[in-house]
Amino acid sequence: MKVLVVGGAGYIGSHVVHAFLSAGHDVTVFDNLSSGQLINLVPGTGFIAGDIRHPDDLDAAFSRGFDAFVHLAAFKAVGESMSEPEKYSVNNLSGTINILNAACAHGCKRMVFSSSAAIFGSPQYLPIDEAHPANPESYYGFTKLEIERILAWYDRIRGLRFAALRYFNAAGYDPDGTVLGLESNPQNLLPIIMEVAMGWRKELQIFGNDYDTRDGTCVRDYVHVSDLARAHVLALETIDREDESLTVNLGSETGITVTEMLETAREVTGVEIPARYVDRRPGDPSELYATSAHAKKRIGWEAELSDCKTLISSTWDVYRKHQTAEK
Ligand code: UDP
Repeated sequence: MKVLVVGGAGYIGSHVVHAFLSAGHDVTVFDNLSSGQLINLVPGTGFIAGDIRHPDDLDAAFSRGFDAFVHLAAFKAVGESMSEPEKYSVNNLSGTINILNAACAHGCKRMVFSSSAAIFGSPQYLPIDEAHPANPESYYGFTKLEIERILAWYDRIRGLRFAALRYFNAAGYDPDGTVLGLESNPQNLLPIIMEVAMGWRKELQIFGNDYDTRDGTCVRDYVHVSDLARAHVLALETIDREDESLTVNLGSETGITVTEMLETAREVTGVEIPARYVDRRPGDPSELYATSAHAKKRIGWEAELSDCKTLISSTWDVYRKHQTAEK
């Protein structure tokens, strides 16, 4: 298929591009490079510089004729979404509507949408399945949920078939070393641990050690980004074959605590990685993990690379390549 990957120069997007190319699809990236980077562009991909806030950019892109698109162009910082919601309204909500309108106007009616576990809020039960109530606790999570609802209407009215993929905690790098871009000012646990290991940050602050978990720190479901990327290909091929939309949670079914991640990172890197306990971060649920039973049944997917060691070693390999880079 001829696939447009909107946001394809970002961390997850570039892995998605790689997965589609490996599966034999023809890929073009659309990105404004606000957080995406040209270094992430996989050789063999087309590139369109454009912004989802500008309908003309999208019209020009979709006029090239695509069979399907993947939409990953979103701001994703939970904290920022609570202090600057306008940014999230304009980019995540209006920008997505611009994409849908341009795609439908040009007859491109197959899409994969990067949704998030943030739509659920604090878990009412574990593991989280697709039927779990959605009560987002951040404006970011709200934008993702709202888009899922808009997609259901475009499906009904315009015949747009979508796969909404609710990522749990994306982590890791392509083990083949095809993606090299580092996120600047990362907010997530593993890249922060890596920056401490590199000496770019003084210490890891562990947000709370008094949770009711096996070691007192929060449990999350980390999924290798290459596993997530593969799910996009499977999901698109499924909706195209069945002509029916789908929504799945993408988790590894394995909860890892912050301390376990840190200890394994010390082991893998051989670096001490200074860390200190600080207060809980507001809004952090103690445990979050998914069941992937539905993803397995619906698109034939399950995590294969999402064990703690592979997550860390694949990330450390990329950071080490940047050893000489100025920070
Ligand atoms: N975390 C931490 N220190 C950090 C960043 C994250 O202790 O500097 C913890 C955070 O409280 C959570 C887990 O690591 O329990 C994963 O956080 P992240 O921000 O990566 O993802 P989230 O689960 O919030 O989507």
